[in-house]
Amino acid sequence: MKKLILSAILISTFGLVSCQTAVNTKEEQKISNKKVMDTSYKKTDEEWKKILTPEQYYVLRQKGTERAGTGEYNDHKEKGFYTCAGCGTELFSNEQKFDSHCGWPSFDGELGGGDRVLKVNDFSHGMIRTEIVCAKCGGHLGHIFDDGPTATGQRYCVNSLSLGFKPAEKK
Ligand SMILES: [Zn+2]
Repeated sequence: MKKLILSAILISTFGLVSCQTAVNTKEEQKISNKKVMDTSYKKTDEEWKKILTPEQYYVLRQKGTERAGTGEYNDHKEKGFYTCAGCGTELFSNEQKFDSHCGWPSFDGELGGGDRVLKVNDFSHGMIRTEIVCAKCGGHLGHIFDDGPTATGQRYCVNSLSLGFKPAEKK
């Protein structure tokens, strides 16, 4: 009986701790993006390796960066929606894309009003930057800068390898 009570206490303590962590993460997301995000798309590294090409895996899951000017969507001007290459969430539209001449597809805003792209402080490589991540699957997209030339002032600098494209339906 004692053992039973003890394990019951242990389980509830652990339960509390993990609840706490979950709440904290949600709180942080609310602060950075003012909305609770859908973070439901989870896979193991092995599963990601099966779905993604090695190049996509390197960028999306290991926070890599494709070489400037090499990306499929760098000079892409078709009408439609840019999706996350990991989970298919629509992240940007062609109307948000602008020619930044920086070598990567660049957007001045995101779809969905702030609940699809997570912003995370990034202090790697001796720089202070803001990483952008797909909220749903946690895939690395690129970085966001506040030196954009359009009215929003924002420049979402995204790897082509992190993106897919859905053409707009022709009318
Ligand atoms: Zn995603």
